[in-house]
Amino acid sequence: MTDTAIEPATISHWINGVSTPGTSGRSAKVYNPATGQVQALVDLASAEEIGAAVEQATAAAKKWRLVPLSRRAEIMFRFRALIDGQRDDLARILTREHGKVHGDALGEIARGIENVDFACGIPNLLKGGYSEGASTGVDVYSIQQPLGVVAGITPFNFPAMVPLWMIANALACGNAFILKPSEKDPSASVFMAELLKQAGVPDGVFTVIHGDKVAVDAILEHPGIAAVSFVGSTPIARYIYQKGTENGKRVQALGGAKNHMLVLPDADVNMAADAAVSAAYGSAGERCMAISVVLAVGEVGDELVQAIASRLPALKVGPGSDPQNEMGPLISREHCDKVAGYIASAEAQGATVVVDGRQQSFEGDGFFLGVSLLDHVKEDMDAYKDEIFGPVLCVVRVPSYEEGLRLINENEYGNGTAIFTRDGGAARQFQFECQVGMVGVNVPIPVPVAYYSFGGWKASLFGDTHMYGPDGIKFYTRSKVITSRWPDPSSSRVDLGFPQNK
Ligand code: NAD
Repeated sequence: MTDTAIEPATISHWINGVSTPGTSGRSAKVYNPATGQVQALVDLASAEEIGAAVEQATAAAKKWRLVPLSRRAEIMFRFRALIDGQRDDLARILTREHGKVHGDALGEIARGIENVDFACGIPNLLKGGYSEGASTGVDVYSIQQPLGVVAGITPFNFPAMVPLWMIANALACGNAFILKPSEKDPSASVFMAELLKQAGVPDGVFTVIHGDKVAVDAILEHPGIAAVSFVGSTPIARYIYQKGTENGKRVQALGGAKNHMLVLPDADVNMAADAAVSAAYGSAGERCMAISVVLAVGEVGDELVQAIASRLPALKVGPGSDPQNEMGPLISREHCDKVAGYIASAEAQGATVVVDGRQQSFEGDGFFLGVSLLDHVKEDMDAYKDEIFGPVLCVVRVPSYEEGLRLINENEYGNGTAIFTRDGGAARQFQFECQVGMVGVNVPIPVPVAYYSFGGWKASLFGDTHMYGPDGIKFYTRSKVITSRWPDPSSSRVDLGFPQNK
């Protein structure tokens, strides 16, 4: 670094509607993964800063829950328009800090916006039930009320979409929301905070607090936070669920994944190969719904491996800001090395390295790794057992549908899976038998649309409710049932005006 080198920018918290510099004296480096350079420092919050933010949010939540549904919907519509108009800017932020290519970043934003679309229907979503005359002169009805202050803790791999899974529904339901984004790519959250303010979200209703374990523990321990939504790796998800529930909070904690794609001998091999390549290497394999294992059944194996391998030399890997590129860098140098280590260990344990991403060279100091294809991977190999979270696809040869299903069902994770076949009966049997939360039939990445809910089984989710959609509304509200005998005539008056939302 020379004297004239530009100081990295500082990324501050967003508290009570304004950018708020941290006071803990601690910060973390934010890299540009395409260059390997530090481009910013992000403030890391202390427990005291979390406490102050919760205080502001608590005051704001009391007023926000009084804001009529029609107005909350209006704000969501405005937020939707604002984010829609700034997709490109937001995508550039994602590329700069996460590394994913611009088109992929736009895809993430589009899937995030779906959740705002859903939340725009909040008046309809919060409609309760009503039973007139449940008993003589007695009516019974249900209402859903916000929880108060709720928090979200999100991973590095979807810095816009995963926060949007939570923000839209939590706010529309009438809660104040505190977001603790990944400290590796924190700028998208602050960008969205500014848009929420412009859309009319009152100060204090949406907060961004940056931080690491210190901030997360303070969130889990703070009695003023009623619920925590978490998305990240399984060990941390398990910890969040245990600690959060011990402290009396409602918790949904989504964890890691090892998603298998079962290819039956009758599948269209070219279609299956296209799907496997797209789902394994898109976003450099850093997706919780990435396909990381192909289970090739019987005689389809050789042809399928050949079809996948033949597609790999054409993939363009490089900086995400170059529209030519299809895959960007990994998130960090350490992660790059860890992923490369799995290729080495698989080779040492007897797998065939068909394509070796370590052999691709890249200019500069970015965190790049080429795509890898491993064949004849076995159950006891580390590359099969662990979530690699990188551009490495393992092919396991299995003799039958039953053996493929056994592997899927015995895996510790149960996030996503897919079957490729032309046999409708086999697909139907698979959807019935597999122990996985999200299933694709000839669809490799079956991320549910925003009006369903997202969630895995087993070690991919701790808690009872899935993320977003109907489960999101359920998670962010508490229901109450009222049994009522006495009507109150005191509010009755003559008013010839056209009835309005007031
Ligand atoms: P991570 O678990 O390291 O971090 C997630 C969040 O937890 C971050 O905000 C981080 O600051 C915080 N955190 C990290 N270590 C912590 C600790 N010791 N104590 C308390 N908090 C801590 O995950 P990541 O590397 O950011 O994201 C990748 C992981 O997320 C992968 O395992 C991926 O499968 C998973 N993921 C799952 C889903 C899903 O929907 N199931 C979606 C996206 C990502």
